Amino acid sequence: MQPILDAIQAGAAGDDLANLAIPESYRAAFVRRDEAAMFEGLESSDKDPRKSLHVDEVPTPELAPDEAYVAVMASAINFNTVWTSIFEPLPTFGFLDRLGKESAWGARHALDHHVVGSDGAGVVLRVGSAVRNWKPGDRVTIHCNHVDDQDPTAHDDSMLATNQRIWGFETNFGGLADLAVVKANQLMPKPRHLSWEEAACNALTNSTSYRMLVSHNAAAMKQGDVVLIWGASGGLGGYAVQYVLNGGGTPVGVVSSESKVELLKELGCEAVIDRKAAGYKFWSDDHTQDEKEWRRLGKDVRALVGRDPDIVFEHPGRQTMGASVFVAARGGTVVTCAATSGYMIEYDNRHLWMKLKRLISSHFANYREAWEANRLVSEGRIQPILSAVHPLTEVGEAASAVHRNVHEGKIGVLCLAPEEGQGIDDPAFREQVGEDRITLFRRSGA
Ligand code: NAP
Repeated sequence: MQPILDAIQAGAAGDDLANLAIPESYRAAFVRRDEAAMFEGLESSDKDPRKSLHVDEVPTPELAPDEAYVAVMASAINFNTVWTSIFEPLPTFGFLDRLGKESAWGARHALDHHVVGSDGAGVVLRVGSAVRNWKPGDRVTIHCNHVDDQDPTAHDDSMLATNQRIWGFETNFGGLADLAVVKANQLMPKPRHLSWEEAACNALTNSTSYRMLVSHNAAAMKQGDVVLIWGASGGLGGYAVQYVLNGGGTPVGVVSSESKVELLKELGCEAVIDRKAAGYKFWSDDHTQDEKEWRRLGKDVRALVGRDPDIVFEHPGRQTMGASVFVAARGGTVVTCAATSGYMIEYDNRHLWMKLKRLISSHFANYREAWEANRLVSEGRIQPILSAVHPLTEVGEAASAVHRNVHEGKIGVLCLAPEEGQGIDDPAFREQVGEDRITLFRRSGA
């Protein structure tokens, strides 16, 4: 990849990039099929991504007509890479094998190594014969919604497509690598005022939060809504807080340390609950929840903002769902996209139906939603929440930090980019948006 990197760094024209050979192999982070049982018998918390994530050369797959090769300058860690690397809830090779049975092009994915990563920013190197809107040299970010556009079920909301997948999690050839293979309809223009790693960290969680809160496909927040946000300085929460503030709502952020409380206040979230200091114990034992503790959280929210949340932004799952359903306002909405602490959920249904609350599911974002979320970043209305950056060789370390919840916001990963801070194409606009706002999480430096 060195000649490609040299050409990108020298500002080579698209035609020149198109003439450079695509290497037969490239450096990538992957898990191995023959290691899928390596953590059997261990507690989740003892499963270590540093042991299962390898960085080495892998063969370059052939390009399908609707795809592009992208030279990945930077990528980011998402929780799905944690799931893949600890082989929970299932090894991801089952996803690849299923995709492998769908078509001749799908068969490329069913390999004994899984190249992970569902975010990326970089430069288009080649496009397949059916690609119209992108060309070599385009500077792009990549969203992770992988859909077959010949499937009729993909043509209302593509997240409802029967074979919808998350790139780099349910497909191979993901973004934590020097080269990625993506469908052309995953590409979006790179925000010109951001560095490669700042541009790379947004697409997955920013688009997810956009759909959960802003889109008519999920909670469709209104001006003046109070929104309770779990993990408000995390990958999803850091964008959710910004959407609520931008949309004229009141975020109530929940976090687990004093430094995270301070960070949220700097972000503009005035109502913050430190769940560790509050010591909520929603489960009195493995089978029993404590309504008094739900009520205590509800009182704490009312004490801060004077009323119950119109929307609860849910993703911790088993530990918090009972409380989330309880504290949502009469007629309010709980919107959920995940279950980090366990997916077998319990809540008291009486509180849901008697108070006419709604429980809405959400999952990533369709192309339009991802595009809008990316546009808001490009316009400087949503800031990246990059807090730390690692080289690709330390991908296991970076995933381990997210697994252990010792991070804030997003952790970026440098792939081809040799150092931080490169790739800014519009420094004047960057100055207008404000360095302080763009680098808030990076300066807080978890
Ligand atoms: P993240 O960066 O780790 O942030 C999640 C935050 O949630 C943590 O920082 C933590 O914040 C809080 N949290 C964790 N466990 C908790 C618990 N038991 N009770 C209360 N709060 C808890 O992860 P993320 O990127 O935001 O992703 C969160 C979840 O959503 C993951 O499971 C991920 O796989 C999933 N996800 C789903 C989609 C989708 O499309 N469906 C997209 C993105 C992510 P504090 O410790 O500060 O409270």
